[in-house]
Amino acid sequence: MKQAIPIDYFEPFTELPAQFVEHSDRIYSFRLGMNRAMVLRTSDGLAVFDSFNKNFSKALSTELQKRFPELPVRWLIYSHNHLDHIRGGAYLSPETVVGHIEINHLIQDWEHPLNEVLPVTKPIEGDTSLKLGDQIVHFLYMPKSHSSTLYGFYIESENTVFAPDMMFVNTFPPFGLPDWYYPGYIRALDRLIGLNAKTYIPSHFNEGNKADLINYRNMMVDFREVVAREMAKLDYEPDQGAKLRAIFDVAYPELQKKYGHWHGFHAMFIPHFAGQVGGTYLGY
Ligand SMILES: [Zn+2]
Repeated sequence: MKQAIPIDYFEPFTELPAQFVEHSDRIYSFRLGMNRAMVLRTSDGLAVFDSFNKNFSKALSTELQKRFPELPVRWLIYSHNHLDHIRGGAYLSPETVVGHIEINHLIQDWEHPLNEVLPVTKPIEGDTSLKLGDQIVHFLYMPKSHSSTLYGFYIESENTVFAPDMMFVNTFPPFGLPDWYYPGYIRALDRLIGLNAKTYIPSHFNEGNKADLINYRNMMVDFREVVAREMAKLDYEPDQGAKLRAIFDVAYPELQKKYGHWHGFHAMFIPHFAGQVGGTYLGY
């Protein structure tokens, strides 16, 4: 049973050295371990999109002071309320923390010294565009997708999208992407794809491009459709474990043929499979 808990999914990324990428002369990203923040350089300072955790923010702060000694972090922007994205912001000393209006309320449920979460000081809701220094950032609200507070970001002048938890490059998202609603999530991915941006930056794992985002979207749709098709064929009900095993026997090789070479296919197949069965049956 223990073998369903992978030890080769996060580990290869934990061992990598930190990486600072210049996507343009205004847009950068910083990856440490599996997490990647986007940084926007404006006339009035830096905007950092997601702080992740204490170690990440400390390392990013050191990197930014080295590269941009004149420019403070003026804005910290939270993509959504999930704690793995919003801890440790104090190490960046931002003047303003921007995020969905529900975030301050939601973090109250998770009082814990480990959280170390700076509260939102500029709450937003729905689609919003903010002028940060000389740059305009479009905040694209993705309702009923992944959490209730998720934003994608489009920097029009740089034709760049930051796609937090909405883009995984040839990689299965961890543990079946907990906290997601399938129809809204696919709508969110399609909205980002429809922007047809030059640069797409994911918040986890490797860099990629628009084709990688499309491949990821198609994998999530394929997985759901294969599972739903086989469930319908066998007229599956939850008290029928033998039927579920028969569904697995069809879904696994069919998806392996297309996605067996992706990172995390084997490590994360079982939680994805369970999530897709539950989502199909319950309607989420
Ligand atoms: Zn998340």
